[in-house]
Amino acid sequence: ELSERYDIAIIGAGMGGLACGAMLAKKGLGVLVAEQHFKPGGYCTSFKRKGFHFDVGLGWINGAERGGIISNTLQELDLKNEIEFIELDPALGVVGSDYNLPMIPFGSHVDEWKKMFPGEEKNLDAFARECKALVSEITALGETAPDLLGFGGKMWLMKKFLFNSPTLKKYGKKTFKEAIDESFKDPKLKVILGSFFPPDVGAPGLMVFGLSICQYPKGGFQALADVFAKGVTKHRGKLVFKTMVTKILIEKGKAVGVELEDGTKIHSRYVVSNVDAKQTFFKLVGKQHLNRKYIKGLEEPLFMPPDFLVSLGVDMDLKAMGFDSVAILYNRSDSLDDIFSGDPDKCSLAIGMSSFCDPSHAPEGMATVQISALFPYNHKDYWKREKDGTRGEEYKKLKETVANKLISAAEEVIPELSKHIVCKDIATPLTFERYTLNSEGAMGWLPLPGSKPRSQKTPIKNLYQAGHWTFPGSGIDSVISSGRNAAQLVLKDMR
Ligand SMILES: Cc1cc2nc3c(=O)[nH]c(=O)nc-3n(C[C@H](O)[C@H](O)[C@H](O)COP(=O)(O)OP(=O)(O)OC[C@H]3O[C@@H](n4cnc5c(N)ncnc54)[C@H](O)[C@@H]3O)c2cc1C
Repeated sequence: ELSERYDIAIIGAGMGGLACGAMLAKKGLGVLVAEQHFKPGGYCTSFKRKGFHFDVGLGWINGAERGGIISNTLQELDLKNEIEFIELDPALGVVGSDYNLPMIPFGSHVDEWKKMFPGEEKNLDAFARECKALVSEITALGETAPDLLGFGGKMWLMKKFLFNSPTLKKYGKKTFKEAIDESFKDPKLKVILGSFFPPDVGAPGLMVFGLSICQYPKGGFQALADVFAKGVTKHRGKLVFKTMVTKILIEKGKAVGVELEDGTKIHSRYVVSNVDAKQTFFKLVGKQHLNRKYIKGLEEPLFMPPDFLVSLGVDMDLKAMGFDSVAILYNRSDSLDDIFSGDPDKCSLAIGMSSFCDPSHAPEGMATVQISALFPYNHKDYWKREKDGTRGEEYKKLKETVANKLISAAEEVIPELSKHIVCKDIATPLTFERYTLNSEGAMGWLPLPGSKPRSQKTPIKNLYQAGHWTFPGSGIDSVISSGRNAAQLVLKDMR
């Protein structure tokens, strides 16, 4: 049922691929989106077990408010009425041995932090001001991706950065930890704020993130992906599942289509890859088409740390137990080294309770509890997988052990949790990798301070990237923006 030729072939139906496909289909172009999994969304997905609905670890999205990137995109695709969002405030609370504070969005809860740290009142106000200044400086730089700007536009951007973005310049080359260390004196405050994200990540992205409005898509994250999938098909784009792309066809340095697992060749004027960068260039393109510098740029950088996720259906009434936020970050230690150790006996846990905001996620009187923690991909010799990469008995035993440790740690926050488990599902970084083919189950590159934005253009003519392995980075709002940019790049080329 596939045509031999499309205007654009998009590899992957993650949110980046879907946004790109829907925008181009809306312009009347012939679009193919080929997805290897049996449903759309990539990481933006949900699954069901025994009447419980679980998202794949996601907590909230930014940019769904009026004027935000998700809201605008839905509007442009005539999908605005297809989905509703629930505002979460707080979206994330942080709990430790002697504290319980609302953490995200940070901007609307500074007063609670001031009460707990009276000696840091001025610094907390100043930090919140710096975060706000960053938001307005980044907004003033404009939403247009650098790739879409001509020489004049790039000069304008550079000037604006040099002369009108003092806060961005101040924090641009700092890690989140450095920004916090410089802003506060109290060691405990530094640890609590710093526990939000790994310390070596660039400061500006996280400081802006802390102020954004957080929302939850009614029906769960799969519902959001399904709406974007509808955006492709509604505008006569072709979206196919269980369709693995194995090669990007290249002629004279130019992408001319894709080859599928069964050998079918599909020709297209443009190819957009929404998939893992290493897979795109090392497997689908092939190193023979790339120069050494480009290959090095793909081999050297670090990935975002992957998640270990335990999804539980429980027969508990969490609201009656006094819980009031949809997610909690639980710090078992006052040391950042422990918090990010990837050691199941010490590391921090995120505890998500999405049935709080969408009761349809659990049978009546029950709830969903998801416990996640950042773990290295190579934990215990790659999760004790077999030498040939398969997951055997040792792997199963290890993931049960880690899950049980995290469940018993979570009981310090939700007493007797283990006695109320009705169903349990465990995902390791290997599971995330298996379902999405993202290297090491990661969420794209680690955004190190001062690192240059990763261009969506590639060394192969007519091949673009969209998604969290390219500009602007990880997060549903970012990859939707990336998909839109890729669509713009194609349209600009076509003109
Ligand atoms: C545990 C976890 C929690 C997160 N929490 C949040 C959150 O709370 N808020 C937020 O905004 N973001 C969150 N994120 C990040 C966000 O989910 C991702 O950045 C985003 O969904 C990535 O979208 P993408 O389109 O770039 O790629 P992906 O979602 O990786 O999609 C790529 C798609 O390509 C397909 N594919 C791969 N190879 C091929 C091939 N050869 N042929 C065909 N198809 C292929 C895959 O099956 C997949 O569907 C979280 C991520 C994770 C993992």
